Amino acid sequence: PSPQLPGDTIAAIATAVAAGAGSVAIVRLSGPAAETIGRRLFLAPGAQPWESHRVLYGHVVDPADGRRVDEALLLLMRAPRSFTREDVVELHCHGGLVAVRGVLELVLAAGARLAGPGEFSQRAFLNGRLDLTRAEAIAEMIAARSRRAAELAMAGIDGGLQRRIAGLRERLLDQLAELEARVDFEEDLPRLDGAAVRTELEVVRGELERLVAESRQGELLREGLRVAIVGRPNVGKSSLLNLLSRRERAIVTDLPGTTRDLLESDLVLDGVPLTLLDTAGIRPTDDRVEQLGIERSRQALAGADAVLLLFDLLAGWTAADQELRALVPEGVPLLLVGNKCDALPEGAAAAGVPSAPPEAPLVRISALTGAGRNDLVAALLGQCGASELQGLQVALNGRQRELAAAAATSLERCLEAADQGLPWDFWTIDLRGAIAGLGAITGEEVSEAVLERIFSRFCIGK
Ligand code: GDP
Ligand code: ZN
Repeated sequence: PSPQLPGDTIAAIATAVAAGAGSVAIVRLSGPAAETIGRRLFLAPGAQPWESHRVLYGHVVDPADGRRVDEALLLLMRAPRSFTREDVVELHCHGGLVAVRGVLELVLAAGARLAGPGEFSQRAFLNGRLDLTRAEAIAEMIAARSRRAAELAMAGIDGGLQRRIAGLRERLLDQLAELEARVDFEEDLPRLDGAAVRTELEVVRGELERLVAESRQGELLREGLRVAIVGRPNVGKSSLLNLLSRRERAIVTDLPGTTRDLLESDLVLDGVPLTLLDTAGIRPTDDRVEQLGIERSRQALAGADAVLLLFDLLAGWTAADQELRALVPEGVPLLLVGNKCDALPEGAAAAGVPSAPPEAPLVRISALTGAGRNDLVAALLGQCGASELQGLQVALNGRQRELAAAAATSLERCLEAADQGLPWDFWTIDLRGAIAGLGAITGEEVSEAVLERIFSRFCIGK
């Protein structure tokens, strides 16, 4: 059963609002009374016609006293040719804080209700304008921190994910129809080729598992890579952070272990968003363990997608560096970074530097001069598999990944039933489960409570 379609008219400020910022602010209305409210509050001089998809110029006026609240443009989009497929009116006001809030207050006083988070998108979904994956991709576009994250969101808005999932669901529905027919009318129908059904389910399961595996890459793009910089005091961690973020953020001093500051910096390298974590704040102490900042390093390492282990080429690779190396958890991409190459005499080799195993390449840089910066960035992104992100077309978010993984598991059970030679109706239980899971991804089969949860994470006015 499809959820009740709302009949009231909602309104919200659709743009970011701050005093002194944004040259344009938009108040958006959607619902049956949108045009009536627009006509009551908007004074368009001359003979400007109220036609759909035409812009009117005029003023927003308080009907109580005729006071002009703002100079504005009005855009009317009659149903169904609008984002929500309802009548939509947008008032394009001057930016800032005061005027646009005044306009919203008038709109609410005229009978609109303040929209909840994501309520416009929810209506668009309920009215069949968007499937759930497209709606979620819009939210991802708004949240995108980098070019590649935005490209991925755009692919989702275009329906790339919806088509993939709907295609797989169709294939399962075809198989279900065949099986169910056999459950009811086994004698009247030609024998079902169990091997063919099995192959088809195998293929769909494989596709789902690939989507689940690839979703990790999409997550990196959406949320950004967390990269920890670890290293002994004074090897140049803060300097490297400064170099990469091209900002004078961290406080660099000549005294070992005296970096106060910083800790985190958000940046975008080659289209990929990163959060760099410095293991700063290490106090000079006689306790060698504390001097190494083991505890702090452990924390930084715990949540890291990749690790830059920085050491001083002049000092060479020391026992302390080796200790830090041992802290890096198995399986976390690691890069060994020899710093201060500018201070190393031409042609001189650093002492004790380990021959780089393939899982931990070695890069030489100078955080001071910037030498080797590009090599470092390329090696880091390469270590994180970020170069594969380029070709990524669709990527499941957390909600979608759970559903896809569960559907793959259901198909797995289905195939087991097949292997055990169980009757058709044993297959259909799990097959239906998988189909329902895929339907929940696109929103064809989804409860109202789940919808509320999804859309409540959207921003107001979207
Ligand atoms: P941290 O304790 O690991 O954060 O190290 P800092 O970034 O605070 O740097 C410690 C000292 O090393 C400072 O005096 C920096 O100027 C110096 N330093 C950092 N990177 C380089 C480099 O690439 N070359 C040279 N010659 N000195 C550097
Ligand atoms: Zn530092």
